[in-house]
Order: sequence, then structure tokens, then C-alpha cells
Amino acid sequence: MDLTLSPEQSLLVDLVRRFVREEIVPLEFNLDPDGDELEAADKARLIEKTKAMGLYGLDIPPAFGGPDIDLVTRTLLAIEMSQHRAGLYAPCYGVFGGAGLAQLFEANDAQKQKYLHPVLRGEKRGFFGLTEPSGGSDPARAIRTKAVRDGDFWVINGSKIFISGADKAQFGLVFARTEPENGRNGVTCFIVDTDTPGFRVRRVVHTLRSAHYATELSFENMRVPHENILGKVNSGFAIANERLTRQRIPYAAGCIGVAIKAHQMALEYVPQRETFGAPLSSRQAIQWMLVDNEIDIRQSRWLTLEAAAKADRGEPFRTEAAMAKLVATEAASRVVDRCMQMFGGYGVTKDFPFERWYREMRIRRIGEGPSEVQRHIIARELLDSPLR
Ligand SMILES: Cc1cc2nc3c(=O)[nH]c(=O)nc-3n(C[C@H](O)[C@H](O)[C@H](O)COP(=O)(O)OP(=O)(O)OC[C@H]3O[C@@H](n4cnc5c(N)ncnc54)[C@H](O)[C@@H]3O)c2cc1C
Repeated sequence: MDLTLSPEQSLLVDLVRRFVREEIVPLEFNLDPDGDELEAADKARLIEKTKAMGLYGLDIPPAFGGPDIDLVTRTLLAIEMSQHRAGLYAPCYGVFGGAGLAQLFEANDAQKQKYLHPVLRGEKRGFFGLTEPSGGSDPARAIRTKAVRDGDFWVINGSKIFISGADKAQFGLVFARTEPENGRNGVTCFIVDTDTPGFRVRRVVHTLRSAHYATELSFENMRVPHENILGKVNSGFAIANERLTRQRIPYAAGCIGVAIKAHQMALEYVPQRETFGAPLSSRQAIQWMLVDNEIDIRQSRWLTLEAAAKADRGEPFRTEAAMAKLVATEAASRVVDRCMQMFGGYGVTKDFPFERWYREMRIRRIGEGPSEVQRHIIARELLDSPLR
């Protein structure tokens, strides 16, 4: 596989790289080390710039007004966009715009009008409600939230946990069991307005992540109109799965970007820092850490671009996406850890971004399907069709 960038890709990568270095990183000197929001005026100014660059709304399909960017190029840009302190969970502080919940591109016209278009205009936010207290690794079996039909409505009872952003959302996707005996074919996706009686954000769940906390939700006799079903009754798990598979590629790319930045900082630092009469870079113990970083980064980048290329070609990419997610999250965790070690005491201060990356990177091996689940997906494929 040829990983050489096309002239157009090189141009875009350079553009975004310069944008991050010249526009985003300088602002972080004046932000709280745990912050994930820019000043409103800065954000508005930078959004104008990304619009002028033709890169606003990167994840919005061209049919809805977004730029026409394939997944390989999108992955290359995601690798650039995370190369700053808040980059893992707030790449470029959102100034490239977001597409919100990708499932809504499959919504019917009325649903698009009510939910998708306001999200694209930045007027509404949505959440993705799959995980429950009974478990997130195998949601098809774990979902206990129940929806029972009552005329033109469904009555939903149950709860969700670890749901990002539900306290600031106007609506969300809630996956509920509609056929108890039917496993993954008995789950339906409902679009739920957060002002529906019976919907409650029970509490905020704080995690290692700096700012974007998660929430716990409860639903008590929450009545949702039948017309708010996304897709078909009992087809919700396929909707969730499709999104999770595709999302693993940019998720991996964000980790690679942080690893690259940490590694670059270490490469600049170790020739300057002297101990026992010689620069750190002259020590084999340090050189080996740098070598291991380089290999970790290259293998993650290769696997992630391979997954994106397969998706772009319209081929099955579930196994490749699982490998990219697994390898990039684990490799980037090791890279950040080694870089902290090379920076010594400075590595653990909030004067440098390593401690934030270290904390937030830990979540990446659990969120969007933990490492064990990715291995499970890959193993299933291997055992079904060993040695291709
Ligand atoms: C900060 C944060 C934000 C999140 N945001 C969202 C969100 O917006 N929406 C949403 O729906 N979910 C969200 N999640 C939930 C996340 O997807 C789940 O935490 C994850 O899927 C794991 O589920 P669990 O925590 O219930 O772990 P469990 O399913 O209980 O698993 C526990 C551990 O056992 C391991 N394990 C599971 N099965 C096996 C096996 N067969 N063999 C070996 N090991 C196994 C798992 O890998 C895991 O390490 C978020 C989580 C976090 C931490």
C-alpha cells in the first residue's frame, strides 16, 4: 500500500498543521491547563478562518454542505488537529465544526428538519445513549432500558451511564430494548428530546478527562412518539454498530497526533538536557525510548490509514478499524508515558501538556469499545477466516 500523500493531501495537512501551531497553541498559554473552551471571540474568529479555508464542518457530507473529504485525508487531518494540549478530547476546540451525531444523516426528512439541520447550524446538540449500568462492552446483551408500544407512542423506562454531553443536549439517541427475546435484533434507536417528561440527568460522572464529563440518565415512563424512531423498529443495534466502527478511525488518529507531538517535544528536549556531564540524547536508555516511540507511531499510523483506505474503497473494514483503535490507543499511551519519563519532574507538571495527555489517553483504551473488545472483534474474524 502506498502511503505517499497526494499533492492535495500535502497541501491540506500543511494548512492544518500551520493553523494548529500558529492559531491554537499560542492561545493555550493563557488558558486553564484543564480548559476545553476558547474565549467566545477567539472561537468566532477562528471559525471564520476555517470557513475561509474551506474546511469548516469536516465531517458533514457534501450533500449537507460539508467539504468533500475522503476518510484517509480526514484521518491525516485528525492527526494534525490533536497536536495541542486539549487536542485529545477537544481537537482545535471545535473550530472546524462538528457533524454531531452521524446517524442522523440516515434520518427521515422530518427528523432531519427537526434535529440534523439545527445541529449543523450549531443550534442544537445531541448525545449518544448506548451504555447502561449493566455494561457497555456488549451493549446488545446488556441493554435493560425497555420501550413498550402504547398507540402512537413508546413508553421508555430505564437508565444509561457514561453518556457524554447529555446535560447540555437538546436531544439524544436512546437505544432501548423493544423485543426482549431477540438479542441484538431487539434493540431500537429513539430520538428523545431532553425536555420530555420522565427524562432526567441523574448526575454528572467525573472522570480522568479534564472537562468533558459524562452523565448518568434515568427514564421514567418517558413517552416518545413512534415517529421519533430512527431507522426501523428492532434495527437500532446495527445503527449503533455502524457508527462505532467508523468512529474508531478518527478516534485512533487523535491518539496518533498526540503521540507525534509528545515525541517531537522529547526529540527537541533530550539533546539540550545534560546529566552526568553529557546530553540525555547520548544515553542508550533514552535513545531506545525514542526508537520505541517512533515504531509505535509508525505502526499506529499505518494501521489507521489502512483502515481508512478500506473504508474509502467501500470494502469491509471492521477488523481494520478495531486494529487501528487497539494499536493506536495502546501505542500512544506508551509514547506519552516515555516522554513524561524523559522530561523528568517537568513531565508531571501542568506547565507541559504531558500530564493531561497521560490522564486522558488512559480513557482511550476503554471508551469507544475497550481494548479487550477490539481483540474480541479481531479474533472472531481470524477464527472465521484464518490466514487470508
Ligand atoms: C469518559 C467516558 C465517556 C463515554 N461516553 C459515552 C457516550 O457518550 N455514550 C455511550 O453510550 N457510552 C459512553 N461511554 C461508555 C464506554 O463506551 C464504556 O465504558 C465501554 O464500552 C465499556 O463498558 P463498561 O464500562 O460497562 O465495561 P464492561 O462492559 O463492564 O467491561 C469491563 C472490563 O472488562 C473487559 N471485558 C469485557 N468483556 C470481556 C471479554 N469477553 N473478555 C475479556 N475482557 C472483557 C472490558 O474490556 C473492560 O475492560 C463512555 C465512557 C467513558 C469512560
